[in-house]
Amino acid sequence: MKTISIAKGDGIGPEIMNATLAIIKASGAAVNFEEVQLGKEVYLSGNTSGITPEAWESIRRNKVLLKAPITTPQGGGYKSLNVTMRKTLGLYANVRPCASLHPYVTTKHPDMDVVIVRENEEDLYAGIEHQQTPDVVQCLKLISRPGCEKIIRYAFEYARYNNRKKVTCFSKDNIMKQTDGLFHKIYNEVAQEYPDIEKEHWIVDIGAAKVADSPEHFDVIVMPNLYGDIISDIAAQITGSVGMAGSANIGESVAMFEAIHGSAPDIAGQKIANPSGLLRGAIMMLNHIGENEAAQSIHNAWLLTLEQGIHTADIFKENISSRKVNTEEFAHAVIANM
Ligand code: NAD
Repeated sequence: MKTISIAKGDGIGPEIMNATLAIIKASGAAVNFEEVQLGKEVYLSGNTSGITPEAWESIRRNKVLLKAPITTPQGGGYKSLNVTMRKTLGLYANVRPCASLHPYVTTKHPDMDVVIVRENEEDLYAGIEHQQTPDVVQCLKLISRPGCEKIIRYAFEYARYNNRKKVTCFSKDNIMKQTDGLFHKIYNEVAQEYPDIEKEHWIVDIGAAKVADSPEHFDVIVMPNLYGDIISDIAAQITGSVGMAGSANIGESVAMFEAIHGSAPDIAGQKIANPSGLLRGAIMMLNHIGENEAAQSIHNAWLLTLEQGIHTADIFKENISSRKVNTEEFAHAVIANM
């Protein structure tokens, strides 16, 4: 029996986590859960990283964390927990699949099936910021050869393992010739090791426009941290809702799984949030630990629930959906379909 560290997070976090845990338990997956404390309450207790020492110990011991979204308090002094966690645990690859489920969840892009592989530790998220004068601040963009090699090779290996045909690179090396230039150069080098996989490169701004206009053009896209953060939200939204996509944060020894969206304070406590993003993170987690049968049975039941038109408010459409459900009712419907 594998033990998973879980963090219920803030805002809608506990609502979507309880729904997700109920579904995992019903699937018969051989897993135990160990709850850890991180997020807003921990920040407000005076811990500027937002993560308790006990949480670090549990995550390092179990090596797998399922994490609901957290709220970073406004104001100076609080470090982003997500960035701290990715950097401290070396979670270098952020994998975000965004696929259309049309016609059950309507989108203008029925053939979309994109996986965004986002570099997760470097770029403008390296956290190197300086106040130069009261009116001038600086943020350093850090790109390294080992960082690029790891993420780009990961994208090609992911493509090969998952039978995907093409890995596209996004960068802005027409302007940032050194930093994005290095990313693009190493993409060209690593791509040569994968003659079976098609390659292509887009400048990120026009690439983003192409994702918004015809996402079906893309298969796997690898890109530096900031572009990946922004473009994966766009990609998830055009499949129907940001509430639909999950993400895996992969390191050499630890992995963390989550929804791509935030803690949605505007709907927290109303019990109407869509738990699908966290559930899809959990499905990736079950595959990661070898619980493939449970992962498949949850995935099939989740698809069937959406096909039956049982939809949360964010994806509910009068002429397509059959029932508008809350978070808990959605989880019950998935369990009933397993
Ligand atoms: P958000 O993703 O929380 O919400 C954006 C919009 O999408 C809101 O209207 C929200 O109601 C809706 N939404 C999000 N998830 C949904 C779901 N599952 N079901 C239905 N609707 C959903 O973005 P935000 O409002 O910019 O951020 C809120 C907080 O979340 C901030 O404190 C931010 O720092 C934090 N955040 C955390 C993570 C994380 O923990 N990984 C990621 C992003 C943002």
